[in-house]
Amino acid sequence: MSEVRSLNFIEEIIENDLASGKYNSIVTRFPPEPNGYLHMGHASSICLNFGLTKKYQGYTNLRFDDTNPTTEETEYVDNIKADIKWLGFDWKNEYYASDYFEQLYQFAVTLINKGLAYVDDSSAEQIAIEKGTPTQPGVTNQFRERSIDENLTLFTEMRAGKFADGEKVLRAKIDLASTNMLMRDPILYRIKHAHHHRTGDAWCIYPMYDFAHGQSDSIENITHSICTLEFVPHRELYDWLIEKLEIYPSHQYEFARRNLNYTVMSKRKLLQLVNDKFVDGWDDPRMPTISGMRRRGYTADAIRDFCGRIGIAKRENLVDIGLLEFCVREHLNKIAQRRMVVFDPLKVTITNYSGDGETVQSENNPEDENGGNRDIPFTNEIYIEREDFMEIPPKKYFRLAPGQMVRLKSAFIIQCDEVVKDNDGNILELKCTYLPNSKSGSDTSGAQVKSTIHWVSIKDAVPVEINLYDRLFKVENVSEEDGDFKDYINENSLQIQATAYAEKALTSATLADRYQFLRKGYFCLDKDSSTDKLIFNRTVTLKDSWAKERAK
Ligand code: ATP
Ligand code: MG
Repeated sequence: MSEVRSLNFIEEIIENDLASGKYNSIVTRFPPEPNGYLHMGHASSICLNFGLTKKYQGYTNLRFDDTNPTTEETEYVDNIKADIKWLGFDWKNEYYASDYFEQLYQFAVTLINKGLAYVDDSSAEQIAIEKGTPTQPGVTNQFRERSIDENLTLFTEMRAGKFADGEKVLRAKIDLASTNMLMRDPILYRIKHAHHHRTGDAWCIYPMYDFAHGQSDSIENITHSICTLEFVPHRELYDWLIEKLEIYPSHQYEFARRNLNYTVMSKRKLLQLVNDKFVDGWDDPRMPTISGMRRRGYTADAIRDFCGRIGIAKRENLVDIGLLEFCVREHLNKIAQRRMVVFDPLKVTITNYSGDGETVQSENNPEDENGGNRDIPFTNEIYIEREDFMEIPPKKYFRLAPGQMVRLKSAFIIQCDEVVKDNDGNILELKCTYLPNSKSGSDTSGAQVKSTIHWVSIKDAVPVEINLYDRLFKVENVSEEDGDFKDYINENSLQIQATAYAEKALTSATLADRYQFLRKGYFCLDKDSSTDKLIFNRTVTLKDSWAKERAK
């Protein structure tokens, strides 16, 4: 959107840095851990990091944070790349933190040589106890006083695989009394005899996050390293390591994590939903993942617009998913092709219409003056929506009822003359007559009707299946509820309308097409659709039916 927004706090910092000459151009990075698919929180970070370097003419690196050998998978790497591209962004370099393992090892040796790191043989429990508490300083152990030579030898042996997992760690020698617990001799390296998806079995020691992230930033000359708020206490260590190693001074800035209501956004929880089959994979259209939203029909434009509107903040808050849906409606209203689909068919026979039928014209998109028209077959047997008829209508019911008239979209006005029922009183069919001179665009009938309904010609209609998606969770703030988050799953989050009838034009639908089914909402073809069985997903309803619910 082109409306003017004020600068966010990171843009202010960057403008100052550029104005003061601290930098001539900026470099950011997006550092996903390849242990899951990207979600809306990541989208927010992507729009921020890539958006900044677009705006200020720098570049962004994609850096896979793959320092943990056991969790990463190539499937995740491939999907993360596809999602970023789909969102409309491109990186300058594709890097992997694991590419820096040798360099990081040398950095560790530098610290040892400066007397700023030591090998500790204590167990994890012992280290935790000796670290003290926020109100109690930590205590020194005998390993802290090891000589530089001994540390160098031991660290070399750690790398060579002489020790078992957990037998030793490398720690920075900082300050066991620091008020910042992360500065109390943090662990830099641990032993883990595990296969890595890129380095194979070359390493059995792996750097901790704090000893990989800032150093990788520095190696890549990242100017503004943007992360989420939980890393605020890590910044002191980030700066200490860069200073002691005397390497390129990248700077860390923090913004608040973005979370949406009625969903969960941690990869750990999303993985559980996938593994426990609550959803049909990472790209299930109910998932807040980028691939799920894409499959549901959300557009990259709408997601970027949403991320721009919520901006960035210094405090955590829950963002209303209604705003995302608003952005999606805004965009789809402009681009979606209008089509007619009857979800719950009721047969209508037009008794005074004879012949093989005719073709009527309907506009593809009233919001797009170049959208053009399409031909729709009209015959004497049509389906209308069962809910568009009432046998005993209340006052102010303007759709079809015995003796009452309604307009068929882009076609004629019909009047209901007779209701055909089975022995149990179920309505099977309506017998109607049409007004021959009431055709849309050339109506000279003079009839006054207050309502227009959608319809399809029975002999031309194609059966389709429709997935109606709703919120995945019943409660607004899932992580604040007691017990297991899975207890709050909305069991009606998917309803399948198996026997809907669509106008023929929809047989040419492709995955890229976006549709508005008149009076129904926005839809797109599902990737499991085939020519034998067309399947459409509801992206979003036409109006925010939840707004009232939320206001209660
Ligand atoms: P999760 O908790 O979902 O597993 P993560 O932070 O572990 O997320 P990473 O793959 O490490 O996931 O994140 C890559 C980048 O995306 C990081 O810079 C991280 O700060 C950012 N990010 C992750 N989740 C959010 C969020 N909800 N809002 C904003 N940024 C996020
Ligand atoms: Mg992470």
